[in-house]
Amino acid sequence: MAATPEKPATAAPRRKVSRHRGEGQWAVGHHTPLNGNEQFKKDDDGLNVRTRIETIYSKRGFDSIDPNDLRGRMRWWGLYTQRKPGIDGGKTAVLEPEELDDRYFMLRVRVDGGRLTVAQLRVIGEISEQYARGTADITDRQNIQLHWIRIEDVPAIWEKLEAVGLSTTEACGDCPRVIIGSPVAGIADDEIIDGTPAVDEIHDRYIGNKEFSNLPRKFKTAISGSPVQDVVHEINDVAFVGVEHPEHGPGFDLWVGGGLSTNPRLAERLGTWVPLDEVADVWAGVVGIFRDYGYRRLRNRARLKFLMADWGPEKFRQVLEDEYLERKLIDGPAPAEPSQKWRDHIGVHRQKDGRFYVGFAPRVGRVDGATLTKIAELAGAHGSDRLRTTVEQKMIVLDVAEDQVDSLVAGLEALDFQVKPSPFRRGTMACTGIEFCKLAIVETKGRGAQLIDELERRLPEFDEPLTINLNGCPNACARIQVADIGLKGQLVLDDNGEQVEGYQVHLGGALGLEAGFGRKVRGLKVTSAELPDYIERVLKNFQAEREDGER
Ligand code: SF4
Repeated sequence: MAATPEKPATAAPRRKVSRHRGEGQWAVGHHTPLNGNEQFKKDDDGLNVRTRIETIYSKRGFDSIDPNDLRGRMRWWGLYTQRKPGIDGGKTAVLEPEELDDRYFMLRVRVDGGRLTVAQLRVIGEISEQYARGTADITDRQNIQLHWIRIEDVPAIWEKLEAVGLSTTEACGDCPRVIIGSPVAGIADDEIIDGTPAVDEIHDRYIGNKEFSNLPRKFKTAISGSPVQDVVHEINDVAFVGVEHPEHGPGFDLWVGGGLSTNPRLAERLGTWVPLDEVADVWAGVVGIFRDYGYRRLRNRARLKFLMADWGPEKFRQVLEDEYLERKLIDGPAPAEPSQKWRDHIGVHRQKDGRFYVGFAPRVGRVDGATLTKIAELAGAHGSDRLRTTVEQKMIVLDVAEDQVDSLVAGLEALDFQVKPSPFRRGTMACTGIEFCKLAIVETKGRGAQLIDELERRLPEFDEPLTINLNGCPNACARIQVADIGLKGQLVLDDNGEQVEGYQVHLGGALGLEAGFGRKVRGLKVTSAELPDYIERVLKNFQAEREDGER
């Protein structure tokens, strides 16, 4: 289906900033906290909560936790309280936060670049089994999330994670989140440039560093030197996209100010080429601008995209060069169109060293601890020590010798991980939803898995690249605005006039050269029960009426 942008972000008019009230920008003298979040961040750095978790909260239990730590600073260590079971979506907006809080936590393990060793995956599987009731979800930012975590167990979990080089540091909170990286960095034979050294340098220099631990809001980074453009760079706060400069060779094109949720906006190019060894400095300059000039007065205007909307790329580049880097950047070319429509690396592919990587598809990112351990064992038994997570909630086993590929594929498929999945399994994503998320209105993971099964049964011949993204609320954790079919969870009326779980439908979103936001289909809300019928109808009509080349 054709992507019809609801509102082309690049053409957004620049907004006039009120000089009287200010936006809470530190760089223009607004250091007095203007809301509760800014106050608790000023009172104590989010990173400092770790000591209290280790010495007080884990020993004295849940009730000993300071409310500002519980609902604020603990995020800096990847911890959110999960939703109390049994509270329906109709109560999400009317209950106080403490009424929705369970006494258990979601714990997000950051996996920068999506890179995992067999030993790391095995440890996550063990932690899931021992401390998280077997839960584990691969997120659409390459992380792994566990649920049902008790505060008493957190220090032991950190010890196990850190023993294998993993952490939860700044996995959530108003700070630099996980650095998304191409899952085939360093191995794909069509790679323009391997961004791995930049991912590592940013991580080692700045993650857990108080220089950037109090930002206006979360800050998302993506780095990929793959021509597939496999890191959703258009919707990150900062992204480095591989390009070949006619004089200087391979490097990165710099994109700034993308983000979804309220007021979705695509990132804009600053028109500059950044060599690999300067990526970390340029990244720090962009984050510095966000820290100093980012809007802190209102939480819903505190993402970098709002500053970018007001400044535009020319001013942003000028401030970056003049105030943060103190030098001019080199002009550079735009990236070409993504080299393929599916950007997830599913299937069997030859690496540049002659070995193979094998991408496979769990349903909507849902796995479990025992299965993660089995995947680790399977990879190890086939001579691999490296795996990757993808931004499509999928996984890849790297470094497989040719004579091991068939056996690995058979082993994965025996675990119900398809290497040649249907477009529905391949292209459907779901956020956490009402099972664990306090903001959710509807169920998503189970609904998405059922939807995949139904569509595979009803449309066995359908063979087009297709994305179906399900969100449990109006936020954008599953990127509904840039899906072919985006489903935004809300309560809707059924045929009897009863309020039931359902979705507002958005159609025709896309990334890549056709990037734009899906069009909200006015008045089209579908109940969860009607969802398979509705999508079947849309896809049959699309097949019957599509024009040549139309997505
Ligand atoms: Fe929770 Fe909403 Fe995000 Fe889903 S989209 S994980 S329901 S906040």
